[in-house]
Amino acid sequence: MIVMKFGGTSVGSADSIRRTVRIVKAGLPRKPLVVVSALSGVTDMLLAAAEDALKRSLPAGDLVKKIRDRHTAVLLGLGLGPGLVDAEFAELEHVLFGVSLVRELTLRTSDYVASFGERMSSTIVAAFAKASGLNLQAFNACELGMLTNAAFGSAEILPETYASIAGAVGRIPGGVVPVVTGFIGKTAEGEVTTLGRGGSDYTASIFGAALGAEEIQIWTDVDGVMTADPRIVPDARTVAVVSFEEASELAYFGAKVLHPKTIIPAMEKEIPVRVLNTFNPAGKGTLIVRKAVKSNPVTAITSKKDIFVINIHSARMLMVYGFLNNVFRIFNDFKVPVDMVATSEVNVTVTVDKQFDVSGIVARLGEFSEVDVLSDRASISIVGEGIRSTAGVGGRIFSILGSRGINVEMTSQSYGDVNESIIVMAGRLNEAVQALHAVFFGDDAGKVAAAGA
Ligand code: ASP
Ligand code: MG
Repeated sequence: MIVMKFGGTSVGSADSIRRTVRIVKAGLPRKPLVVVSALSGVTDMLLAAAEDALKRSLPAGDLVKKIRDRHTAVLLGLGLGPGLVDAEFAELEHVLFGVSLVRELTLRTSDYVASFGERMSSTIVAAFAKASGLNLQAFNACELGMLTNAAFGSAEILPETYASIAGAVGRIPGGVVPVVTGFIGKTAEGEVTTLGRGGSDYTASIFGAALGAEEIQIWTDVDGVMTADPRIVPDARTVAVVSFEEASELAYFGAKVLHPKTIIPAMEKEIPVRVLNTFNPAGKGTLIVRKAVKSNPVTAITSKKDIFVINIHSARMLMVYGFLNNVFRIFNDFKVPVDMVATSEVNVTVTVDKQFDVSGIVARLGEFSEVDVLSDRASISIVGEGIRSTAGVGGRIFSILGSRGINVEMTSQSYGDVNESIIVMAGRLNEAVQALHAVFFGDDAGKVAAAGA
């Protein structure tokens, strides 16, 4: 069997859903289990409606109406009855009314509100497929054993989740193709959770691992993993094969193609992941496997603009043990993940995603060190299996950026890494990525690689 996951744009309009169902139909011989995201933009709208309900005494009428109109348009476009998701809307309105009454919006309630997006999209996709003569049936992942802990907003699966999914899916009658809600799960107590934004990819790989799928397909709106962000580098190309390790580095350091956690279950069970384009189904996409053999040491370049660079300086660090421990314990206390780290005798520099509020961390660090927070920097990650074994990659990075007068302010590559990350001024980011792309993927890249080897 295979898992086929379709993202928000793949189910975002009547036309997209038609494409999606056509792709599922073509995949029927491989016995698919389908996972879907909410219609594109709907999760944002649901969360905004919840925020709105918190502020107003009446339920968030306008936003709910917008969400409803969106679904109605899709339903009508598919020739389905507009009342198909009425029950979900009634329930949603109840929840939002509750929020406006109690004036409290916990992460638990946000997750519950967000879950309606996938609940409705799965219902619509299954109903349309059924009307087209295919035996698809919608399932809430919660009914299919998708158990998580109670970390609302970014829940994690439990040790027994794979077995509970395998058991529940095993009970679905043969011939039925399940269309499962991505993104959501439930606790042992039955409360709805979400896996974090973009988490439907993760759902797909969890189901793939639980069911021993032969392949996990991620159907999206781009041709696969690209050598660089095509908005920055217009001649960026699709990468045919990447390793699990490269894919997770790329996902963590800004490539938006996959949710970073997607790779973990696939890697555990060595299930290939294929990223494919719903809007160009004939394309080969990108295959993610354990080992990818390539001639170019660099596979792709990714970047991230929304970061804080936090520099922690303390003369007391010199010759003292426990300093790093103290620093990282603070990040741990605030549950803020650190992306890049570089240290010297008296400095520790880290990068953190801007979605996190670092003010509390900075205050605590300030008790024993001088702290600077820089918010106008960007990170660039040069990713490739060949980086660990090829001499001169770092040299080429520094020399091209140096020749452009772009200062590399921090670099990090640990032993055996497939990723060399650097920090530059955000204002020079595009120029830096373009220059690096030309060096590693331009017409002369082969020659330079040969000369460096
Ligand atoms: N609908 C969810 C989100 O927008 C999950 C997903 O699309 O993967 O974050
Ligand atoms: Mg996504």
